[in-house]
Amino acid sequence: MRRNIIAANWKMYFTINEAEAVANRMAEVVNNKTKVIVCPPFVFLDRLSKVFLKTSIKLGAQNMYFEEKGAFTGEISPTMIESVGCEYVIIGHSERRHIFGERDIDIRKKVVSAIEHNLKPILCVGETLTQRKDGKAKDVVERQIITALDGVDLNSVVVAYEPVWAIGTGVPADLDTVNEMHSFIRGLLEDVPILYGGSVKDKNAYELAQINDVDGFLVGSASLDADTFKKIIDEFERAKGVN
Ligand code: PEP
Repeated sequence: MRRNIIAANWKMYFTINEAEAVANRMAEVVNNKTKVIVCPPFVFLDRLSKVFLKTSIKLGAQNMYFEEKGAFTGEISPTMIESVGCEYVIIGHSERRHIFGERDIDIRKKVVSAIEHNLKPILCVGETLTQRKDGKAKDVVERQIITALDGVDLNSVVVAYEPVWAIGTGVPADLDTVNEMHSFIRGLLEDVPILYGGSVKDKNAYELAQINDVDGFLVGSASLDADTFKKIIDEFERAKGVN
């Protein structure tokens, strides 16, 4: 179902005390109509689930393994993250694909397993700069989506379009590109929320949110500060006319 969502990806930042302080501040200031999801590192999930318990903020993990249990040293299962209060899980983030070598086929297994375990996957897709320069951006994104989602029940799926060349650079993709790529994805996935990710800040959230097929954001570095993150949510709602 298409709906507005803003998710925070904290990546590998913070100690538990720092994470708890930011989460407490978010619990204090975030009171929006848009669904807000925070995805901290695994080791903070249990503690932060208590902070968010009486708020509307939902908890997500940044990754998971597709098996439910077994001899998989260092991995975290869907059952584990569900048992500490996660409702969502980011799958196929470009850092997982490019630093840790996750392939489309691995990502599909994770999406399927997440849904089997009642978790809502936030599937990340997006092309590299080379793929874009070679004119392959749409082919790459289409392949990522089809491999991960073909035959999958799309009811609980969220997609985040994150051009790799815009992540962590401070400069988001230009508005025409975001518009073009989101319309393209909408053609493949009519009813799925499509988030934009890649250097979303409080200063650019309004103009990005004015794009019709942008249903929300996946925010990395600007989500590490609760007040900045809150401004992004407010700017998004201002652009969408939510009040
Ligand atoms: C991300 O990690 O998903 C992301 C979009 O990061 P940033 O906002 O820092 O570009």
